[in-house]
Amino acid sequence: MEKTGLKIRVYGDRILKKRALSVKEVTERHAQTLSQMAQAMYETGGIGLAAPQVGIGERLVVIDIGQGLYKLVNPCVTKKEGQQSMEEGCLSVPEVSIKVKRAKKIVVRAMDETGKPLTLQAEGLLACVFQHEIDHLNGKLIVDYASFLDRIRIAQKLAELKERSDDESLPESRIKPRKL
Ligand SMILES: [Zn+2]
Repeated sequence: MEKTGLKIRVYGDRILKKRALSVKEVTERHAQTLSQMAQAMYETGGIGLAAPQVGIGERLVVIDIGQGLYKLVNPCVTKKEGQQSMEEGCLSVPEVSIKVKRAKKIVVRAMDETGKPLTLQAEGLLACVFQHEIDHLNGKLIVDYASFLDRIRIAQKLAELKERSDDESLPESRIKPRKL
């Protein structure tokens, strides 16, 4: 398979802090984007990916925890029940994990890649991943759940990631000096 060309945005990239826009009408372009996002998720070994993580400011997510692929447009949680705490990582915050408290059981409303409305129920890990990806659509990252001690623990790593993402926004010639 060809590479998707989608690049995972890392902590420090401003798009990760922005609220993604609702999709008004699901088109072929959205279906294609969702397929490319799924491919990028599998290539990077992720179990979920939200559009802002690949630089797209629209409410699209893909999820696969090993029980089948979900490709969702405008997902939102309509019901929450119970509580769970899991150690979460994120493709956009590599080498960092944070314990995040979330609802244990949820109901999610969304559309599929053809625009058909869906209602899904999830619990445990799947519920956790849904909430994590929907957070991305609202500009929220796992680091926003960090406790005071977490913040001390991950400060160095975050500074490194931020520096790396600043570097990447420089013109290419400044990152890799051309060989003469
Ligand atoms: Zn994430």
